[in-house]
Amino acid sequence: MNLLAKNLKNVKQRLMQAATQANRSAESIRLIAVSKTKPAADIEQAYLAGQREFGENYLQEAVDKIAQLSQLADIKWHFIGSIQSNKTKQIAEYFDWVHSVDRLKLAQRLSQQRVDTKAPLNICLQVNISHEDSKSGILLAEVPLLAKQVCQLKNITLRGLMAIPLKTKDTAQQRQYFKQIKDCFDELNRQGMQLDTLSMGMSNDMEIAIAEGATMIRVGTAIFGERAQK
Ligand SMILES: *Cc1c(COP(=O)(O)O)cnc(C)c1O
Repeated sequence: MNLLAKNLKNVKQRLMQAATQANRSAESIRLIAVSKTKPAADIEQAYLAGQREFGENYLQEAVDKIAQLSQLADIKWHFIGSIQSNKTKQIAEYFDWVHSVDRLKLAQRLSQQRVDTKAPLNICLQVNISHEDSKSGILLAEVPLLAKQVCQLKNITLRGLMAIPLKTKDTAQQRQYFKQIKDCFDELNRQGMQLDTLSMGMSNDMEIAIAEGATMIRVGTAIFGERAQK
């Protein structure tokens, strides 16, 4: 087995163990392999090892790789990077999911630019949970209004929330961040929305995220290895 296949197997084992500990089924948690900065050949290797969902952050790089891998028809592509509003057209064209929507204007553009013949684009709202100035994302308090507005747009489907909490060694704090997002998600569903996706957890904190209810984890380094600085 090559290194990438071994890494993938290891991450799936971590996922299963964390699910078991949380009394959840492993099937309720989807693994997104984050392939930013990695070549199409790495994605193909992961594909051959059974992985079907991939996350990308940088649009031009992603579009190049998506074109190179177009023969792998059942791959699902997730856009997880920050979005410039003049780039929404390509995102609407090439991706199945967008996790990083944090403004109504972006959602409106994605809605207008997603063609009617394709399945609706799946959307998550990105929440800035640890209140970092540098991070994109909306504050928790802003989520209900934006969610309501996004729900009304055609050709896109609001699926849930995404967050990238501040890295910290304080696991209680980390757990708290994830829990706050889960509570917000539950509240939206109590108010009648039908959200099924909590996109949270990465290489270093996937176990805690799963314990707190993540339904999608986005894992890069633990699968593809360290990235060169971009
Ligand atoms: C890079 C990235 C990841 C993966 O992070 P790792 O620590 O390499 O697992 C997940 N989510 C987002 C939004 C990212 O930008």
